[in-house]
Amino acid sequence: MNSPYFIDVILPIPIQKAFTYSVTQDEAGFIQKGMRVAVSFGNNNMYTGLVLDIHQNEPLLYEAKEIHQILDETPIVSSKQLSHWQWIAEYYMCSLGEVYKAALPSALLLESETVVFKNQGFTDESILEDEEFLIFEALQRQSQLTIHQVADILGKQKVMPIINQLIKKSVIYIKEEIYEQYRPKLEKYVRLHSQFADDHSLEKLLSELSNAKKQHTAVLTFFQLNAAKKAIKAKDLEKKAGISSAVLKALVDKNVFEFYHLQVDRITFQGNSNPLKHLNEFQEKALSQIQESFLEKEIVLFHGITSSGKTEVYAKLIEAQLQQGKQVLFLLPEIALTVQIISRLEQYFGDQISVFHSKYSINERVEVWYHVLENKPKAQIILGARSAIFLPFSNLGLIVVDEEHESSYKQFEPSPRYNARDAAMVLAKMHQAKMVLGSATPSLESYFNATQHKYGYVSLNKRFGEVKMPKIELIDLKEKQRKKQLNGHFSDTLLSYIQQALDQKEQVILFQNRRGFSPIVECTTCGFSPQCPNCDVSLTYHKFKHELRCHYCSYQRAMPNNCGACGSSTIDTKGFGTEQIELELKALFPDFNIGRMDLDTTRGKFGFQKIIGAFEAKEIDILVGTQMLSKGLDFDNVSLVGILNADAMLNFPDFRAYERAFQMMVQVSGRSGRALKQGNVVIQTFNPEHAILQQVANANYEAMFREQLQERSKYKYPPYFRLIKITLKHKEYLKVDTGINWLFQALQGVFGENVLGPSTPSVSRIRNQYIKNLVIKIPPKQSLSATKKQVQKIKDTFEAVKEFRPIRFVIDVDAY
Ligand code: ADP
Ligand code: ZN
Ligand code: ZN
Repeated sequence: MNSPYFIDVILPIPIQKAFTYSVTQDEAGFIQKGMRVAVSFGNNNMYTGLVLDIHQNEPLLYEAKEIHQILDETPIVSSKQLSHWQWIAEYYMCSLGEVYKAALPSALLLESETVVFKNQGFTDESILEDEEFLIFEALQRQSQLTIHQVADILGKQKVMPIINQLIKKSVIYIKEEIYEQYRPKLEKYVRLHSQFADDHSLEKLLSELSNAKKQHTAVLTFFQLNAAKKAIKAKDLEKKAGISSAVLKALVDKNVFEFYHLQVDRITFQGNSNPLKHLNEFQEKALSQIQESFLEKEIVLFHGITSSGKTEVYAKLIEAQLQQGKQVLFLLPEIALTVQIISRLEQYFGDQISVFHSKYSINERVEVWYHVLENKPKAQIILGARSAIFLPFSNLGLIVVDEEHESSYKQFEPSPRYNARDAAMVLAKMHQAKMVLGSATPSLESYFNATQHKYGYVSLNKRFGEVKMPKIELIDLKEKQRKKQLNGHFSDTLLSYIQQALDQKEQVILFQNRRGFSPIVECTTCGFSPQCPNCDVSLTYHKFKHELRCHYCSYQRAMPNNCGACGSSTIDTKGFGTEQIELELKALFPDFNIGRMDLDTTRGKFGFQKIIGAFEAKEIDILVGTQMLSKGLDFDNVSLVGILNADAMLNFPDFRAYERAFQMMVQVSGRSGRALKQGNVVIQTFNPEHAILQQVANANYEAMFREQLQERSKYKYPPYFRLIKITLKHKEYLKVDTGINWLFQALQGVFGENVLGPSTPSVSRIRNQYIKNLVIKIPPKQSLSATKKQVQKIKDTFEAVKEFRPIRFVIDVDAY
């Protein structure tokens, strides 16, 4: 007898190991690593497994189940990808299954659902309990129910016990229904039925149709279109012939035409490609320095001030890769992935570009996946947000990480908690590809790595076309208050700058890093302030909707007229957000158009683009927004940028707060003066002497870097020490507290004083979960992998304690 065959698969769940299933010899011959199979796991749930290995070693501890179905004919994940995912799982301390789940477009992860059917033979209703009867009754009306529907009917979550009872009593049976979510987009085409192949029968047809005028026209139009020998879409024929779909349908029913379907791509770009721009001498020099650096270094930090023309330099590097037949991955922060940058690159590279980001539908993302997998001409350049690092590249030559300092490259929730920039370095290495990190305000660690000669370093500190850097003015709010030169949240200086810009038909951007109307609502009689019932945080007042909202969960309620504690109507608001600024502006500049860009106004697939488009079209004179405004947008008519309250950015309890504040302010300032004249930036603050503000005002990155680096060294933070953050969450405070203390003791036993905490974050409860943190600092000489092993061991012990098991345990490596 032949010995049996097995496959190891990973499942999209947070369990470390792979699982073994049995397959037939034929199946074993067909299956390859990287193909998907449908398998059942646990409570008869069906999952999409990914094949890691095919072998003949029977598992010792359990009996291998058979697979349900093979889902692919060829692998959809490459072995390079698998080793990349493996690296991510190890480095970020999560399971390969979690990486797999994050990597594959969700439409490729088929889902299964348990479906309940009625047993036709069953009639004796009298044996049914109340809840059982409800299900039975529902099945009289519809032929099947999903478990979800059963839960809805019963108004509770736990329905399996009742289902099992019903099965026992032979009332119902259940089946697993699997469905794959991805559906190719099919377009309807028409062709002539084969019986009309010769001219004679055609003539006959036309004379037959001479009474049916519309049908006659349809046939004639068809021949007109058909002259080009191209497939004819049903829709095009209807339009061209001016007929309804009913007319076409009638012709199909008469067997004159027939319909057929062709698969089409959902997203297509125009194929025009314009020549690249000529670089100026500074860009030219930067380009050749980057190329030179690549002779020795894998990674180059490209430090080019805002508006220096980095994109044009990237374009040259991309062009060189394409000429060598290599693929290019161009990473951008999600929010910067707008029409602006896409259309700029599209102008040069036309239909060689594919875009991959979360606002695309699940089906669109599947298509990009297959195009990259098949190395299609249209997938030579991938423009994407962080998750684009998971695509099935076969032939990468270059990775560009634009705005490399951006915090949105880091994924915090859910696991894998990876940093796409860092994970992309490993990807580049696997492909022996080069990498450019571009930024006007590099992250401290990248700049540090450049000073250590780990990366090459190229700077470009001339704006393109002699555009001057903006003039930056710090306004002392204390003084303005004292001299009564404030109007709402505006100093007289800022107001006069705004007026000046508007008078000259120029546009203004105002930056306020809080959305809503005001972050705190307070009763002036008793001091009570409404809190979110689910989170430990004050509710934010949103005036337009007249409601209070929590920015951590999505709780919302109407703004009360009276204080919830003492009943008086003395409710006041404190602090200010984008809504309030917008309202003040409307009162101050009634003849101008004011726009607002924040999370509240940019929901939906095109929300962001609509506002950007209106601003570009100069339909908006003053745009108020949150940090969204700082990301890679390029407007040619903005001559003033105002930062309403710089202090709010400096007061975050985070070791990176100053670095981030610097980056954000320099980036928003960079939106000013892109036109032919010098722009202005006005920064309002209560602390004009603050070192960071001085560094911003003098555009002195170096000074910021040196000072911050000293702090990091002194207080043992990155880039010197590495950090692993551990978070526990549970709905009972006491459980979290006991858990974190146990954990602290255990970790301290191993790492001593390098364990910080336990600490409570500034928002100590979110969505009814209490939160506690610990931070492990890893000194430069301590092995990272050994440290992780020890942490993992302690985690395993923790999770073996019964009372700790329900606590959520989150590990975040490089949690910054
Ligand atoms: P950065 O990305 O460094 O902020 P951009 O690449 O957006 O700068 O360039 C700023 C502006 O200058 C853009 O409008 C761009 O079209 C223009 N520009 C840059 N380089 C050139 C060039 N070589 N020729 C013509 N225009 C250029
Ligand atoms: Zn009160
Ligand atoms: Zn909340």
